[in-house]
Amino acid sequence: MSAGLAQAAYIVAALFFILSLAGLSKQTSARSGNYFGIAGMSIALIATIFGPYAEGLSWIFIAMVIGAAIGIYYAKRVEMTEMPELVAILHSFVGMAAVLVGYNSYLEPPVYAGEFAQTEHVIHMVEVFLGVFIGAVTFTGSIVAFGKLRGIISSSPLNLPHKHKMNLAAVVISTLLMVYFVKADGSMFALLVMTLIAFAFGYHLVASIGGADMPVVVSMLNSYSGWAAAAAGFMLANDLLIVTGALVGSSGAILSYIMCKAMNRSFISVIAGGFGQEVSVSSDVEYGEHREVSADEVAEMLKDSRSVIITPGYGMAVAQAQYPVHEITEKLRAKGVDVRFGIHPVAGRLPGHMNVLLAEAKVPYDIVLEMDEINDDFPETDTVLVIGANDTVNPAAMEDPNSPIAGMPVLEVWNAKNVIVFKRSMNTGYAGVQNPLFFKDNTAMLFGDAKESVDAISKAI
Ligand code: NDP
Repeated sequence: MSAGLAQAAYIVAALFFILSLAGLSKQTSARSGNYFGIAGMSIALIATIFGPYAEGLSWIFIAMVIGAAIGIYYAKRVEMTEMPELVAILHSFVGMAAVLVGYNSYLEPPVYAGEFAQTEHVIHMVEVFLGVFIGAVTFTGSIVAFGKLRGIISSSPLNLPHKHKMNLAAVVISTLLMVYFVKADGSMFALLVMTLIAFAFGYHLVASIGGADMPVVVSMLNSYSGWAAAAAGFMLANDLLIVTGALVGSSGAILSYIMCKAMNRSFISVIAGGFGQEVSVSSDVEYGEHREVSADEVAEMLKDSRSVIITPGYGMAVAQAQYPVHEITEKLRAKGVDVRFGIHPVAGRLPGHMNVLLAEAKVPYDIVLEMDEINDDFPETDTVLVIGANDTVNPAAMEDPNSPIAGMPVLEVWNAKNVIVFKRSMNTGYAGVQNPLFFKDNTAMLFGDAKESVDAISKAI
């Protein structure tokens, strides 16, 4: 394939990626968005492999077969609830790839000729340095995010003394090393020291962020991985990689911004790493007694209700309760009960988690509402079913300024006449804080696996 044809194919692939992002922004067009993405990536791969610069095709194919086999194996096995972990570990691969591309590009730099050869050489060295830095931060940051999401690393924030000063020192020292790297015309020592600092910086940045703020971290690392890919694109002089990296980087940054707003967090403090840790968990508060109900009682209550709101959370995903939830929704709607869903922006373990599950169970889109659309309707609601949600319905976010989730907007379910909470125990949610909702007079607990509880209610209805 000629260089011109490969370049044309890259432009087409870039257009497909843009169409893919546009498609993925709505549930109804998400499937076609995925197909556009697949088409774009296929074109990009073909143009790169058969393009003018690829060598050692057999090695590329062997690597692709091994990579595809591992990828297909894991993608088929992964549960919906494990998706964020998968995304986090994939981000770490992008980070590591940028580090390796950086070192390769340092060891075998392109040869520049002509009037601006020296300037181009300096620009290339800056690209190498920045690419390795961003890649290394993304790599260890994503590994820590993976560990926290999987529960291998504690979700509580790491609180080292002078942590903000340490972060600042890492950035300042790395900048000085970059100046030295360029002045010394590429010092391996400076590159190596910066890589080690960047690995530690990435680790520390994410480790100092508490569990409740992980959604923003995941989308922020998504953004970092995009910039790491764009940096690799500059080093390899590959336009498509630059475009794709910039698309991922900027869309990840926009998503992080939207999530920060949704969670009432400061965007700058997320990027700087380590917010939400300057508060203490007040675990010694006495909340009183909780009340329990049976599935049959809940079924009666639902039949007597005129309006019902269901607020699902991570527990619905774990129990795979979305199918029986759809079943009771249909049964109640057939009886004339107004049933709607209230979705918190960070319910579950990845953005849009609940929407995907409900769409999978064929719950109609028009009764699935965002938190802001439904929050004012709770006072006129007869019954709220909190199915496997905890942090996202925790009044402490509004009432307790010392809570790790203080300031995060929540679904104000307690304003309804009756609240039924479906969970297995009195354990806390992901943020590790107790929920005063469970002890309110209008709240009753329905203990057990969410799927079994909803099945039992469905039978009773
Ligand atoms: P939470 O993690 O706060 O609570 C989930 C609840 O589900 C738990 O209290 C648990 O209680 C219950 N549960 C678990 N399994 C079952 C089961 N089989 N049957 C019934 N109940 C079950 O979930 P939310 O969705 O309310 O909040 C999401 C949290 O996750 C937030 O803190 C958010 O910041 C964080 N997060 C969100 C991400 C995102 O992008 N959306 C990414 C990463 C983290 P019990 O054990 O007693 O059953």
